[in-house]
Amino acid sequence: MQVSATAGGVLETDVLVVGVFQGELGPSARALDEQLGGVLSELLASEEIRGSLGEVTKLLRHPQAPAPLVVAVGFGERARLQGAGARRAAAAASMAIAPRPRKSVAFRLDLEPSLSAAALIGAMTGCAGCDLHRAEKKLHPFEQLHWDGLDAESLQQASVIGEGVNLTRQLVNQPANVIDPEQFAEVARGIAAAGGLECEIWDRGRLEQERCGSLLAVARGSAKEPRLVILRHAGAAADAPWLGLVGKGVTFDSGGLSLKPSDSMKTMKCDMAGAATVLGAMQAISALKLPCNVLAVCGLVENMVGPDSYRLGDVLTARNGRTIEVLNTDAEGRLVLADALDVAVERGASRLVDLATLTGACVVALGHEAAGLMTNDEAWCAEVKAAASTSGERMWELPMYDDYGEQIRSEVADIKNVGAGRWAGAITAAKFLQEFVDDVPWTHIDIAGPAFLEGKPGQINGGTGAGVATLVELARRAVR
Ligand SMILES: [Zn+2]
Repeated sequence: MQVSATAGGVLETDVLVVGVFQGELGPSARALDEQLGGVLSELLASEEIRGSLGEVTKLLRHPQAPAPLVVAVGFGERARLQGAGARRAAAAASMAIAPRPRKSVAFRLDLEPSLSAAALIGAMTGCAGCDLHRAEKKLHPFEQLHWDGLDAESLQQASVIGEGVNLTRQLVNQPANVIDPEQFAEVARGIAAAGGLECEIWDRGRLEQERCGSLLAVARGSAKEPRLVILRHAGAAADAPWLGLVGKGVTFDSGGLSLKPSDSMKTMKCDMAGAATVLGAMQAISALKLPCNVLAVCGLVENMVGPDSYRLGDVLTARNGRTIEVLNTDAEGRLVLADALDVAVERGASRLVDLATLTGACVVALGHEAAGLMTNDEAWCAEVKAAASTSGERMWELPMYDDYGEQIRSEVADIKNVGAGRWAGAITAAKFLQEFVDDVPWTHIDIAGPAFLEGKPGQINGGTGAGVATLVELARRAVR
């Protein structure tokens, strides 16, 4: 998909998309309305168009129209519009256009720059489907996407993030028989080569040498080889701070011996979304040549049942020396992250963010509408929140009171991999991770809700790429 600015001039395009707000037309829509003899304002007055968020109205072959197809997309109440809504409405417009191949689509939305950037990401993702293995695609990415309302730098930045989001979505949408730890690592190697990132890939032998006993235990039930991927974007002086991004990459999660019921297992190809998000962000950060240092660590395993599966009651020794009693093999993500976080700390990350589809409990708390944030450093978490808000992504903080940490104390080891019961499961998981970050400022992002959607009409379903834009924004802020 080629993305370029329209600079407001006369344009030959197959499709023109204009934004409407609840009960009002923006400047571009008003100009178009005049050209069309008032048809848009008439539709608005008769409430055929309401301008509600994500509402899509198509006007076909109007004799005065500048394009064969004109689309009006609603952004809701102008004063209430935020990045997440802008992204979602633009994606809905793209989804309505993309069932047929389109050479050229132009968007004129009349949004202020930060909303316009979020909308561009939505427009780019809305036309890329998740039917990777269907001969007949349901959606067709536009050949040319013309965008109005962003300066050249912001346009480039948002379009590079849009590509990163689509990379993440594609990785998440690939089934586990296509993307296993080894293949994920090869994708990472390719992205590193294309973007000039330093890349290190640890195989089983190296993971053993490095004492990654926690991560390796999870991998034991699978015939697939585990991997750990380390990427480095050295955009600033080596002694400048390093932003550490750590991702959970469980390419399929059967639950292990604590086997999931069939229904809960159906979508478990998405359990590597944290690692895929980190990779999508690293692709964007390298393409934008951001003048900052970023270290990425992805822990990659498959959690299966096999003759050598790790067991309940096993005691593992993690890379940092902590011993862990395993009381549920389906709480494997934290075991993978434990060693990945320790590697990031050892490699000099001065601030850490990890992303993981970690707990169902976080989805119970926040639904699919927001990711959960948990931290050991309020100031750092505030920066993550600010970056998310700028990026049009929803993240909500959960508390980390010391008392929650008591739930993961074990009688036989330093800690255990589940809390005392099912209450506060998202937080007890974070308390577990905190044992592996030393005293580095760290924020954990539980993306179990927003990373993968099902049965949401008018929204991008399957992998969503949630978190990519926030990570790139964090790297951008690290420049200052
Ligand atoms: Zn699990």
